[in-house]
Amino acid sequence: MDIIHLLPDSVANQIAAGEVIQRPASCLKELVENSLDAGATDIQIIVRDAGRTLLQVIDNGSGMSDTDARMAFERHATSKIKEANDLFSLHTMGFRGEALASICAVAHVEVQTRRKEDEMGTLIEIAGSNVVRQEPCQCSVGTNFRVRNLFYNVPARRKFLKTDQTELRNLRTEFNHIVLVYPHVHFTFVSNDEILLDLPAGSDKQRIENVFGKSSGKSFTGQFVDIHSSTDLISIRGFVGKPETAGRNAEQYFFVNGRYMRHPYFHKAVLNAYAGMLPADYAPSYFIYFTINPSAIDVNIHPTKTEIKFADEQAIFQILMSSVRESLGKFNLTPSIDFDREGEIEMPTLTTDNKAHAPKVSFDPTYNPFRPTSRPSAPSSWETLYPQPTTDNIGAGSHTIPSDTLQHFWDDTHENSHEETLFTATPSDATPIQYADRYILIPVIGGLLFINQHRAHITILYHRFLEQMHSNQAVSQQLLFPDVVELSADEISLIESISDDLHLLGFDLQQFSKQSYSICGVPALLGNDNAATALRNILQAVRDTNTSVQQEWQTKIALSLAHEVAIPYGKTLSEDEMRTLLQSLFALPSYQFTPNGKRVAFILTDNEITKKFL
Ligand code: ADP
Ligand code: MG
Repeated sequence: MDIIHLLPDSVANQIAAGEVIQRPASCLKELVENSLDAGATDIQIIVRDAGRTLLQVIDNGSGMSDTDARMAFERHATSKIKEANDLFSLHTMGFRGEALASICAVAHVEVQTRRKEDEMGTLIEIAGSNVVRQEPCQCSVGTNFRVRNLFYNVPARRKFLKTDQTELRNLRTEFNHIVLVYPHVHFTFVSNDEILLDLPAGSDKQRIENVFGKSSGKSFTGQFVDIHSSTDLISIRGFVGKPETAGRNAEQYFFVNGRYMRHPYFHKAVLNAYAGMLPADYAPSYFIYFTINPSAIDVNIHPTKTEIKFADEQAIFQILMSSVRESLGKFNLTPSIDFDREGEIEMPTLTTDNKAHAPKVSFDPTYNPFRPTSRPSAPSSWETLYPQPTTDNIGAGSHTIPSDTLQHFWDDTHENSHEETLFTATPSDATPIQYADRYILIPVIGGLLFINQHRAHITILYHRFLEQMHSNQAVSQQLLFPDVVELSADEISLIESISDDLHLLGFDLQQFSKQSYSICGVPALLGNDNAATALRNILQAVRDTNTSVQQEWQTKIALSLAHEVAIPYGKTLSEDEMRTLLQSLFALPSYQFTPNGKRVAFILTDNEITKKFL
């Protein structure tokens, strides 16, 4: 006897539904996406018991004819694509023609729909894939879907649902993903007769504000800077959080062509742009919208998956990272040190271009009342640890510090109380002092600046090394006796892929045998004693990040080498050494944190000092 037969549609649909409709939130997504595809400008969502009992979506879109309304529930019935080629020019949210078939396989569905040109609408009722009723009806233009008793016939699914609270949260998450890309559509969300959100049509910024801003009481979007960048490949725009508004919880959203996506790799690109601006466990919020030719992304997006594959991810990574970095850079000209009190105290910084605020105070670091004429001769080997000045790197590392280079930005509007002015005497002759052979202290206006010498130097060197890899200006020191290091097969292949970058830093490496390399030259700052260790640590760091993107491994190499070379804790510094260190530090675009998020500097404010004496 033959035993193979075709499954009835109702069973096939129920199986398919398991994939597409996993919970009320996925049902909401499908219905709302259909409304958007139908050109709706007003969409109401009404749920009861987190969508278990009722999930209703009412739109003012195109509506359907009576035959289309019936067809819509067939599997693979869609008005959105006709042939395979259409997949490469998708401009709608849906295209699979699966959603309605799936939903009506696992729920009681009732739809009322009418087109503008029809006098009467259509009502259809379906339960478990069977049409129970179809008749003309009076209704407004658009479509009104009621999905009742979701999973009534799939007990296993029903049991699998979480508490109402969790399912409602899932609904809200799905809702956010959609409303953030359709700011010109009016949305309302009603749960158990309570209006949770009413979002008027507006700009994307207003939409973000309306979704997230209400609770905090202050402007949410005011904490963001704009990004935009447009290339042949992709156009990127959006908003990224100012570093000081980062926290342990962040709202992070990517959208591509009007669709929410998760993209861990692009997420890294954004985080990379914040390197050195955030403490280790802090994350920035961002809302980033990509527009790209649909043929450059993978269209066969699984309905429940939010990851999307791009044809040219590495290039986009770079565009995204530099775009975010540039916007933060503009903003970061006047970084504020205190996360809670934005703008009160600003970190000292160097003017490197005239976009900066006009400095109010400058000091001549060569001036010392106790040593009016004798500046010690240039420190011995110290400078080699620091960046030598280049044309675009004003004064960094030079022996004589031009009196106008080290300047303190100060907010004009800042006001100190009367007593405090006592403490804000301009440090025109400020002399840095070293404390505990670990920290450098220097008075600045508004307080006392504390700097961690080891981390400061790591940060300086990190930027220096990165620049070397980009501009090929490393100083290499040849070793008299090449050092041979044994390496694993893994390490050998890794070395091959990053050898150009190692070379740019000053490493001269030659394969010695199958399992070893000889180190013939090293970065001048490194010296030969720890060449092998440094190389191993670099390899380890690159391997741990497990990346195939040059830009990413370069940052790991730079950081690893910076750790190796940086002045250690416990090293006593001369005044000149401290000045040079500070000057190089202040010349960086940001230096409050190391590239891996450790704090480099903070200000003990006048206020805080005054309080100690109360
Ligand atoms: P898809 O969206 O992938 O085409 P669906 O099963 O979600 O598949 O919907 C099937 C078809 O039903 C759609 O292609 C569309 O023509 C029609 N449809 C669904 N919802 C609506 C709606 N709210 N307004 C107008 N037409 C709709
Ligand atoms: Mg659809």
